[in-house]
Amino acid sequence: MKKLHVFCYWDRLQAGLLREILVHEGIDCLLRNDQLSSAVGEIPFVECHPELWVVDDEAFPRAELFLKAWLENNMPAADPWVCPHCGECSESQFGACWACGRLRE
Ligand SMILES: [Zn+2]
Repeated sequence: MKKLHVFCYWDRLQAGLLREILVHEGIDCLLRNDQLSSAVGEIPFVECHPELWVVDDEAFPRAELFLKAWLENNMPAADPWVCPHCGECSESQFGACWACGRLRE
C-alpha cells in the first residue's frame, strides 16, 4: 500500500471525491484521517490531513496519473502545499511556509 496524496484538512470533500473516482476506475484506495476534523486542536495538525492511499501497488502509477489530471482540473490556480516541518498549508504562490518560514521543497 502506498500513500498517493496528502490533502489539506479543508480539502476533505475533495479527498472523498477523488477516492470515489479512483474506486470507480477500479483502483482500490483508502482515505485516512478523514474523520478527525473535530479533533483539530487536540492532536497535532499534521495528523488531521486526509491521506489517500492506494491499496494495490501495481495500480499506483495509474492512480498517480488520475491524481495529476484531477488536480489540474479541480485545483488549477491554488494548489496548496503542506509544510513537512509544521504541517501547515500554504498557498501555491508562497515559496516558504507562512507559519514557520521553512522553504518549500
Ligand atoms: Zn511550516
